Amino acid sequence: HPFSKPQIPTANVRVVCRIRPMNDKEKKAGATPAATASTERKEVAVVRILAGGTRQVRSTFHFDDVLTSFSSQEDVFRATLQPLVGQVLAGYETTAFAYGQTGTGKTYTMEGQLDSVEGRGLVPRTASAVLEALATSEFTESSVTVSYLEIYNEELSDLLACSDRHQKLDLKDVGGGRGVCCQGLSEVEVHSMEDILEVVRRAQEKRRVAETRVNARSSRSHSIFTMKVKCQRAVAGGELENQGKLHLVDLAGSECAKKGGLIYSEDVSAAARMLAGQEEERERRSINQSLLTLGRVITALREDRMLPERRWQGSGRVPYRDSKLTRLLQDALGGRCKTVIIATISPALASVEETISALSYAEQAA
Ligand code: ADP
Ligand code: MG
Repeated sequence: HPFSKPQIPTANVRVVCRIRPMNDKEKKAGATPAATASTERKEVAVVRILAGGTRQVRSTFHFDDVLTSFSSQEDVFRATLQPLVGQVLAGYETTAFAYGQTGTGKTYTMEGQLDSVEGRGLVPRTASAVLEALATSEFTESSVTVSYLEIYNEELSDLLACSDRHQKLDLKDVGGGRGVCCQGLSEVEVHSMEDILEVVRRAQEKRRVAETRVNARSSRSHSIFTMKVKCQRAVAGGELENQGKLHLVDLAGSECAKKGGLIYSEDVSAAARMLAGQEEERERRSINQSLLTLGRVITALREDRMLPERRWQGSGRVPYRDSKLTRLLQDALGGRCKTVIIATISPALASVEETISALSYAEQAA
């Protein structure tokens, strides 16, 4: 039905920045924050101290919205995904990415602390907002399924798989220009907040087990929570069915794209270290590739947005196929789909170089 989808006047790609509060260690060190946010000016300022403390360099970055270290999880939800819940119910695809250095709050922003209502992140908040909206009398029928997958070293694994075996999944083209599907991926039906929390806990447990085999694995992988929403509403003369999707992506640590960051135990033999070195290099390249490709895809989409006539030349110019991450999300990036990038940064002076590089990446998408 050509008239069933509302026209959306707002931008398709939004970029917001969130600064986490200083942790106890940083507070003890007594340093003033190197990165500060102005919500009013929608700006983040980073101060670097050069030449042995004699010279200060201040850089500023602009975003569609800026969240400070005082912003609550609810504030973040309101500034990012709350306005897009209606899009999902209207049959569109929506994606949010958390991008930033390890330890800056990507997982806190996405999943958060499940045991307290205030601590819950975007996954439980958005999922429960969708379920709540579907419970209203506007909808005559609905079903919601979720999946959770991880991309590590360009390999996909199912974070909700029942078996303990680490089975690799394959991406397959569906054909007819209808994108890709991930074969064998578990899809779990959810009806309540309890169901959602259960799903997130299951994924956390799988990641925890994987982490015992490969040190710091979770900071070097992307995890993608996907919610498929089917709903029907009564309209004059019949029923209208929509199928929307929501993807919430916790990206690999932005620092991993540059250096390996493998942590070795003391007793690792030289041979094992060499092998691990090769593995590390392969891994670094795959993270680099996927974050770079994601940046290129988003830049291409932004150009499309500025030159609307180009959108109809197809997605040939957009390098979706260059990484598993962008290939998987191909249908969700571009067209009328909405994308939110949440750049998470640390206020600490020690992270200032990485903070600037993460902000530059994110600002380019804005
Ligand atoms: P990342 O996933 O980017 O590596 P985490 O989400 O694990 O980072 O955050 C690192 C630590 O900082 C965690 O202990 C987390 O609870 C805490 N943290 C991050 N952001 C916030 C915040 N906005 N408020 C309070 N604690 C936070
Ligand atoms: Mg994390």
